[in-house]
Amino acid sequence: MHTEQYERDSLTGLLSYTSFQKAVALYTEVDPKGMENGKYAMLCFNLQRFKVINDLFGSDGGDKLLLFVAKQIERLGGENCLASRTHSDHFCLFIPITDDSLPGRLDAFTETIENCAPDFEVICHVGVYVTNRSDIRPDGMIARALLACSFVKEAVDKRYIYYNPSMRTQLLLEQEIINNMGKALEEEHFKVYYQPQYNHTTGQLVGAEALVRWLHPTRGIISPGVFIPVLEKNNFIVKLDLFVFEKTCALLRRMIDEKVQPVPLSVNVSRLDILYPDMPEQMEAIRRKYDVPVEWLRVEITESAIMDGIEKLTSFIEKMHKLGFNVEMDDFGSGYSSLNMLKNLDLDTLKLDMRLLSDEGSSKNNGAMILTGLVRMAKWLGLPIIGEGVEHKEQADFLASIGCSYVQGFLYSRPIPEEDFFEMVKNQSIGEIKPPMQLIENMNSAQFWNPMSIETLIFNSYVGGAAVMEYRNGRVDLVRVNKKFIKELGEDLTEEDVLKWQPFDYMDDKNRQIMLDTVHLVIETNEEQECETWSQTPIHHKPICMRVSMRMIGNSSDNVMFYILIRNVTTEKNTMCDMVRREKLFRAASEQVNIYYWEYDIKTKKMSPCFRCMRDLGLPEEVTDYPESAIEQHVISPEGAERYRVLMQSIDAGLASAEAVIPLTDDHIPFRIRYTTEFDEQGNPVKAYGSAVPVGE
Ligand code: C2E
Ligand code: CA
Ligand code: CA
Repeated sequence: MHTEQYERDSLTGLLSYTSFQKAVALYTEVDPKGMENGKYAMLCFNLQRFKVINDLFGSDGGDKLLLFVAKQIERLGGENCLASRTHSDHFCLFIPITDDSLPGRLDAFTETIENCAPDFEVICHVGVYVTNRSDIRPDGMIARALLACSFVKEAVDKRYIYYNPSMRTQLLLEQEIINNMGKALEEEHFKVYYQPQYNHTTGQLVGAEALVRWLHPTRGIISPGVFIPVLEKNNFIVKLDLFVFEKTCALLRRMIDEKVQPVPLSVNVSRLDILYPDMPEQMEAIRRKYDVPVEWLRVEITESAIMDGIEKLTSFIEKMHKLGFNVEMDDFGSGYSSLNMLKNLDLDTLKLDMRLLSDEGSSKNNGAMILTGLVRMAKWLGLPIIGEGVEHKEQADFLASIGCSYVQGFLYSRPIPEEDFFEMVKNQSIGEIKPPMQLIENMNSAQFWNPMSIETLIFNSYVGGAAVMEYRNGRVDLVRVNKKFIKELGEDLTEEDVLKWQPFDYMDDKNRQIMLDTVHLVIETNEEQECETWSQTPIHHKPICMRVSMRMIGNSSDNVMFYILIRNVTTEKNTMCDMVRREKLFRAASEQVNIYYWEYDIKTKKMSPCFRCMRDLGLPEEVTDYPESAIEQHVISPEGAERYRVLMQSIDAGLASAEAVIPLTDDHIPFRIRYTTEFDEQGNPVKAYGSAVPVGE
């Protein structure tokens, strides 16, 4: 391509927009066949947040960046390319296509751009149109590439997208949505549906989520998945969410007026609502207008709102709490937040979407493990979980088995119109969503809560540690404990700590099975039985071995009560089970702090990562050929690879401990890596325990 005679952009030296179009037009004239057969591509580039860059680094800094990007675009285009800066931070590139290397080159290009500034992530979105007709003009190509470019999403890793014709249809639909939304709201074409939430264990209705639908006069029902993203681009969503909230309040008002026992209703608030300063006040005004007690109202915020800054989210939650609203975290576990972030957010409930776990080819087993981990996290936070998107009974059964009984999904009901929901609430037994621990207050009907009863007397004067334990649906709960029982578990624990503790959650499968077998034996024989089980203590998660003897003291249709007597036999057991203890301590401790950890077997070069490593980095339960395989997969970033190898060599060679700061993952996040080596009796290194903490934590 000879372009010497063309006019150029003074900053970057690329073709001016007019010259660029002229030059491209020549190709359409000269090679219409090639145009038709996909032998050329038009690419449009759009730098994200370029304004911010200018503000931060001055216009000199901005110019430098533009120059750099221009060079990279030319490099990407290769010899026979035409490149232009069309205006400010927008670029176009026209190239012949001779092979299928373009996607690979684009990956390399976007990565180079992303890493060009040390402290600032520069993101460039790219739209690609591969020519498919002979009669297309340059501006037509550019329009298509630009359209594709607008489909690149902030939150997704892919920075470039190829044009396809359905994008035009979608654009038209978007335009139609924007043109009609105002009228649709006025004429009440938006309808609120309700999807009930159930306690899978008791079958009771516990709440519902309000979900909006657009009943379009000609198009039929349009799903929120289609129009919400469009409305989120133009603030209209705030109006719509307030509308949905108002309808929800009106429904609750109607329930109260018609003496129907209400259930709590959740409404969705979008990311934009959170940024909108008046939202809590406006909602409160609507609530008052309908005079609905605030306990029947909940708001769902999405995990992705964290991307707009944790302070905004925190202050929104705080405001809502002050007004008395419950706040639920939607799509918990979708990957935006870590346990650490969640700990700092004052949430009331977590919603866990089953669908988030089922895709991406994650094996069934892995999914179950992640779920269990997430549910356990929720318990640490003391929060109830609602499982969402539950379609099959097995999913609900599984969720219940790991302590999450509240479900919402097609298994029970699809979202239904207001009228149907109203009828449903009338005819159903209502339950409530409780925190995962069942505390003493909830049980006061039984005789042994009476301080004057014989039972109480025996209970308190009994020489050893004693408790009342409830067994129900395969789970055990402590419902009452005496002082000595608490002492057996740990000197510094309070009664509440111990009552919150659900032994089965702190036991491995084997020990749980031992306990369960004993429970069943007691029920069968109605005689006292004894067993020994390992578990972790409340709060400190110390492994302890308990000798438990149990006796049945009562039963109802779905639960059985036991008196249990316990003795802490850990010290006796410890000498025998030193290895078991170590392993448990290790797991328990590391799961509580913000670190990644793993075990590394020096001989076999196998690495066993912790749950967080598996979740965040997608590692399998066992990684072979460590660290080479991890380097290959960019778990350790290429620039840190050499240093990491040296670190590992020193561990292999028998250094007792070692430490280094090394960038991990393709995001090059610096982590402090520490290793501690374990030696056998002969002093040979056998294992090393590795940990990684983000630098600055
Ligand atoms: P979401 O908040 O996660 O809502 C749950 C979505 O999952 C709903 O989709 C619901 O119909 C669907 N769902 C529930 N159970 C199942 C199941 O078992 N299987 C499958 N495949 N899907 C199930 P819907 O109603 O299409 O809403 C989609 C999204 O649109 C919602 O996701 C929410 O983010 C947004 N949305 C809906 N209504 C509103 C609203 O009033 N305001 C705002 N801001 N967003 C809304
Ligand atoms: Ca939701
Ligand atoms: Ca959800």
